[in-house]
Amino acid sequence: MSDPPIDDQYDHEQFVSDIAPNVLGVLKKTRFFDLLDDRFCPADHSQEPVKCGHSFDVSKGILADSGMDEEDIQDVIDVFHSQGACCDCEVLYNVAKESRLRARYWKARYVEVESQKEYRRTDP
Ligand SMILES: [Zn+2]
Repeated sequence: MSDPPIDDQYDHEQFVSDIAPNVLGVLKKTRFFDLLDDRFCPADHSQEPVKCGHSFDVSKGILADSGMDEEDIQDVIDVFHSQGACCDCEVLYNVAKESRLRARYWKARYVEVESQKEYRRTDP
């Protein structure tokens, strides 16, 4: 009676963590992460990569194309949030463990670290 919102919030978090493994399993099976990766980091270099709009618009489009209804899609987005992703590109960085976008990020980091090492070596 007095504050159900907190309990509801807790139940919802519990629900999201319960469904997360199955949701991620479905996404893997339907190649969702590959499709998302293809948009942001196309294997075909002649294709223009999509820029993240700090939303889940691209993910939602792919999920809708795969036949999910709005309620399913909301559950998937809730799982993404629970995994630390707040937009399409963060899904590739934080949820999909392997993606070209993430690989490219680490390659850039490596190059950066390597160049710092070079710099230090020449610094007396
Ligand atoms: Zn993003």
